[in-house]
Amino acid sequence: MQATGTIVALSTPPGRSGIGVIRLSGADSLPLTRLLVRDEQFSPEPNRATLKTLHDPESGEILDRSLVTFFKTPHSFTGEDVTELSCHGSPTLLLHVIDILLRHGARAADPGEFTLRALSNGRLNLSQAEAVRDLIDARTYAAVRQAARQLGGEMSARLQPIKSSLLEIIVPLESSLEFVEDDLPEDVTRDVANKLSLLAHRLEDLAGTFRAGRLLKEGLKVALVGRPNAGKSSIFNALLSSDRAIVTDVPGTTRDTLNEVLNISGVPVLLTDTAGVRVSADKLEQLGIERTRRAITDADVVVVILDGSQPPTTEDREVLAHAREGRYLIALNKSDLPAFSPDRFQEVLDGARPVTVSALSGAGLDTLRAAIMEPFASYESFEASFVVTNARHFDLLRRAADSVRSSEALLIEQASEEIVLVGLYDALRYLGEITGETTPEDVLTQIFSTFCIGK
Ligand code: GDP
Repeated sequence: MQATGTIVALSTPPGRSGIGVIRLSGADSLPLTRLLVRDEQFSPEPNRATLKTLHDPESGEILDRSLVTFFKTPHSFTGEDVTELSCHGSPTLLLHVIDILLRHGARAADPGEFTLRALSNGRLNLSQAEAVRDLIDARTYAAVRQAARQLGGEMSARLQPIKSSLLEIIVPLESSLEFVEDDLPEDVTRDVANKLSLLAHRLEDLAGTFRAGRLLKEGLKVALVGRPNAGKSSIFNALLSSDRAIVTDVPGTTRDTLNEVLNISGVPVLLTDTAGVRVSADKLEQLGIERTRRAITDADVVVVILDGSQPPTTEDREVLAHAREGRYLIALNKSDLPAFSPDRFQEVLDGARPVTVSALSGAGLDTLRAAIMEPFASYESFEASFVVTNARHFDLLRRAADSVRSSEALLIEQASEEIVLVGLYDALRYLGEITGETTPEDVLTQIFSTFCIGK
């Protein structure tokens, strides 16, 4: 994890594009740039783009016309000398330029190494570095906004007063350890215990926002299940046609189900149609119930689709029985047909209230959307408030809260200050791990391994 040498990487995605940006960071950034522009005196004004011709330093061949921007240490993303070469976005050209830089002493950057250097040089704290990754990976604009807030330092700004309050409690406890032989007076103990309880509350409240934050970041997994011809694919397509998110790659996509990401009020909704890709009619029949089972296990919410124009079938009952194992909703489809008759379903619904929809006319789809999001009714407030979106932060906040709670309990039980202090120091350390002051090296390595090369 030692930041040594000058690193190079392509900072734009691989593939053909209008421009491709190669980034260099380290003491040799400028000498290496001079080599490419074939001008030993090249002294670009920092932070200003200059149009330069790049050459192969050995053969002298012209490589490209490129916009060269130099950022002088410490005023760069990494805090080191940085050069960005905006070349034409030819993968062959970009690899060739990177190859030349590698031959002349640069080293290929590890995943996230630019951001890691920014962290090592105090340009960012750890939660901000993680926000860089989250911003790049965000699947909805609401997630982008949360990452931007974290990048702006909001997490550390929220933790700072909590840490200060902890220290305000720790200091007198420490001094009473040194100077007072007797126990703390009862009123002081009560006062400290109250303060600890308030602190634990604040930590728990912040940790509690993760329920919303996780949803915002990872999305809500919704599976559409039902017997063949109930209208799963039609509802899937009807929901998609209005809400499809820009990004459609879903991690863990299976071949026999269709997955898409919808954007419902800023929340990425990962919708799975268990009718799946229609390889053949028999395969469809065969896979039906097994696939339904699997989808139900994976989903946060299951939408059981019933054909309201037909009497309920054994298959309908079977699907419902499986769905009842988790959170589920019922959509009674085909409300546009004259044969539509919800009454027939009374008995199979077992008291559950279905949402009446028509995939064909679009009737009821808004109600269905609202029903899917119902437990997250406060999701609109994501827009306004800061939420914890990172599982690591959540875990540390919870551990800090637990440590403060246990110190509070020990204090009330009149345990020695020494023992009370252990939990308080633990809490401080956990909070420090969020922003990186006390994060163990192996955790840092693990965090940065989730970054892409070039970040
Ligand atoms: P799946 O097998 O559950 O995915 O069902 P499909 O979406 O393929 O629908 C089966 C049949 O029902 C198709 O012919 C659809 O056009 C039709 N269908 C689906 N939803 C509706 C609806 O709301 N109204 C009407 N009238 N037909 C529908």
